[in-house]
Formats: sequence, C-alpha cells, structure tokens
Amino acid sequence: MSKFFLCHRIRASVLFLACSLIALYSFAQTPTPLDEPTHKLAHDIFQQLIEINTTDSVGNVSTASKAMQQRLLDAGFAKEDMFLGGPNDRKENLVVRYRGTGAKKPILIICHLDVVEARREDWTTDPFKFVEKDGFYYGRGTQDMKNSDAILVTTFIRLKQQGYKPDRDLILALTADEEGGKSNGVDWLVKNHRDLIQAEFVLNPDGGGVDMDHGKPVSVDIDATEKLYGDYQLTVTNPGGHSSLPVPDNAIYHLAGALINLQHHEFPFELNPVTRAYFERLSTLETGQKAADLKAIVQTPPDKEAIARLAAGSPEWNSMMHTTCVATRLEAGHANNALPQMAQANVNCRILPGYSLEEIRQQLIAIFADPKVTVRYVTDGGEVFDTAPSRKQLPAVAINTQVMQAMETLTKGFWPGAPVIPTMATGASDSVYTMAAGMPSYGINGIAIETDDIRAHGKDERLPIDSYYRGVDFYYQFVKMLTGGE
Ligand SMILES: [Zn+2]
Repeated sequence: MSKFFLCHRIRASVLFLACSLIALYSFAQTPTPLDEPTHKLAHDIFQQLIEINTTDSVGNVSTASKAMQQRLLDAGFAKEDMFLGGPNDRKENLVVRYRGTGAKKPILIICHLDVVEARREDWTTDPFKFVEKDGFYYGRGTQDMKNSDAILVTTFIRLKQQGYKPDRDLILALTADEEGGKSNGVDWLVKNHRDLIQAEFVLNPDGGGVDMDHGKPVSVDIDATEKLYGDYQLTVTNPGGHSSLPVPDNAIYHLAGALINLQHHEFPFELNPVTRAYFERLSTLETGQKAADLKAIVQTPPDKEAIARLAAGSPEWNSMMHTTCVATRLEAGHANNALPQMAQANVNCRILPGYSLEEIRQQLIAIFADPKVTVRYVTDGGEVFDTAPSRKQLPAVAINTQVMQAMETLTKGFWPGAPVIPTMATGASDSVYTMAAGMPSYGINGIAIETDDIRAHGKDERLPIDSYYRGVDFYYQFVKMLTGGE
C-alpha cells in the first residue's frame, strides 16, 4: 500500500452473505503447521526487517537489501543470480532469481522494503522494535509490507533448502521508495534492468488480502487491475496590486472558477472486464434496490439513475466506475491588503485503466475552460512539468487462469467459505510500473486482517501472529502450485 492507498476492501456486511452461497469444491489445499526451523526462520527475518529503519527520512533501504542478500547467499543462492543496485547507495534494490527448468516463462514477485514514517511519541511501542504483545506483532511495516517481504524471503530459502526445482524461474525484487521518495525501485528496475525482471506475470503482495470479520473470513481479494495516480498543479498569476483598487482579473477568482467547474464535472461511467465481473458478482449478493441497481449498471446501455444512486451511496463504487479528480490543496495571495499575484491548487486524479496522464491533463484544461489557468503535471517526487507522461494503466484483462485456480484451491483450505474476488484497486501500488511495462500484475497476499484493524501507515501498526504464519504457509504453497509443484 502506498501513500496513495485508499481502502478498497469490500464491505464486510455484503460479502458476509456470500459465505452461505458459495459452492464448495471437494478439493482443498489445507494449511500445514510450520516445522520449528521454518517458524524460527520466518520469525527472525520478520524481526530483522522491522528493526532496520527503511523510512525515506532517516532510514536506509540498502541495509535491508543487503541483509536479505546475505541470508539468501547463506541459504545457497549463487551470487550471479543476485543483483544489488539502485540510483544511490541508500536506495539499493535486491533482485534474486530462483532458477527453474525454464519450461515456462518466469514469475516476478515485487515487494517494497521501505516503510512510512513513524514517530516514537505517537506510538505505544517503539515502531522500529519488533514487539510481541497480546497475540500481535507490533512495528512499522508489520502490515505494509515487511510481513510479505519476510514471507517471500522465507519461501525462497525454504524451497532452496528442499532442493525444489520449479518449472519456471521465480524472481523476487525487494525494492525502494514505494511509499514516497524519489527512487522508486520498481520504476528504476524497469528502466535500467528490464532483462532481470522480465516475466510472464507479476505478483505483488502489497495488494489484495483476506478480509476478516470477527475471526471469520469474508473475502479473499485479488487486485487484478488498479487506477492510475496523477497530481496536477493549477496556477494563475497576475500583476496584483493594492486591494483598495480591485479589478475583475483576479488570480483567486480564476482559480476558484476552475475548481467549481471541476466540482460539477463527472467523468464518464465506464466498466472494464474486472469491474464488470465485480459488480455482476455483487448484484447476486446484495438485495432490494441495490441489487436491482447493480444489475442495471452492467446492462447495455447502463441505467443512468442506477449509476447515480450507487455512486452517491458509496465513494468506493463511484471511484470504481469513474475517473475522479478532486482539489486537495490550495494556496493563494501574499498579504491581506494586496491583490493576489499567484493562486495555486493541487488536483489529484485517480484514472481508470486505458487513459494516460497527459490525456487527463488535456481533459482538465477543457473542464477548467480558462486560458488563465495553467495546468501542469506533478511527479510523485514533487517535480513539476508542463506536460504529463503518456503513461497509462494497461486496459484490464481477465485474470490468469492458473493464478485464479490456485487461489480458489488454496482459499478453500485456508479460509473456507470466503469467495475469491478479483477487483480493481482505487489506490495505487508499484504494479503501475510493471503493468505499464506490459506485465499483468496481481495484488495477492495471504494475510488475514480484521477489516476494522487496518493500520497500514497508522500508529501501532500490528499483525495477528497466527495470520503471519498462515501467510508464510500460504505463499509457500501458492508459489509451488504456480511452478509445477504440489
Ligand atoms: Zn505497501
């Protein structure tokens, strides 16, 4: 989850109904208790990662990359199958290749090592100490996403120790600056070392997850696509002057007018194969007017009133149906008694797959309809450019069948009764870079969290201990199922 995170988790109440409706298959891959050495390995790696500060401000991602590299070397991975590098010595990424028979194309797994800032005074415990308390592990990154970093490193070491031979290469990339900073590791690897990470598809444990409601699994989510994040800076400049002599041409009024146009604008309703299947599924789980409305929006043509009702009732559904752009910051003027020489706003967009950042900039210019308002693109690192990149999210496609089958099989054993739901994340993750590079990317993790205990980026971030070890078992079995093993 990034700074762009918006909880996309499905409302528990809806899918709770689903449990009784799901047809159960006879075959299920059940969890197996971890042996003691695996349990200890998973614990120790998790602890080690939590206690290496990898924040952008004072932390160091390279320290974590090197620590994991050492563990993998110790477990028998060849130095030639590893790459350590990045744009500077604080933000080095680690890529390790687990060699398979080559019968199939590789799978890439991306995991960010960096974490969001955490202040000791805000927390009950030290955020950079791995603390076990009341059945939870506490620490910055226990949910987002050092849990999954540790799980994947553990999985690679376990498979290696067993002499397991996958039918394809497995590539693990542990990367920098997903949460912020200027050195995004996945972006850097795509641009500089594409050959190291080229794969048939990508797994990103930073998305998806298992939604729990009072200990009961409600849904197993797969982020099958996601919206694109884009910031735009609106600027109006003016010669200004004395406020006792106002003139109609006023920077603040121009800017305000543009923002009011935006307030009243709605981007077109649009479904893709992922969101269409999602709403179709929901329409069978909901009741009454909502069920009728959900059925009405997946028809051709979709029912306009149904769209309006559903969008008004749920910001999340609204965001899944439309590109959204909203004013998030405002700054203007320099003195109480002066006409403003400058007015500036930030507009944050979440763009549906298929539209580029520049296309949306052009659309914003048309919506503002005021040549006095300059619209520039702002990068994640805060740099401002006159035009936006042509980058767009790949059009959503149906999920890889092998991935889907493995998820269905494992879910039956691990979280019985919960449906597997591919969805579109309204937030954004590093999958944006791998998808833009043409690799289908799926947000999948085997971590079960109560829907009211999501603490990623927050204080006292924590993870249920049993959820962690089940996740260790899940990814091990999942990876094996995808590579010709049991
Ligand atoms: Zn994350």
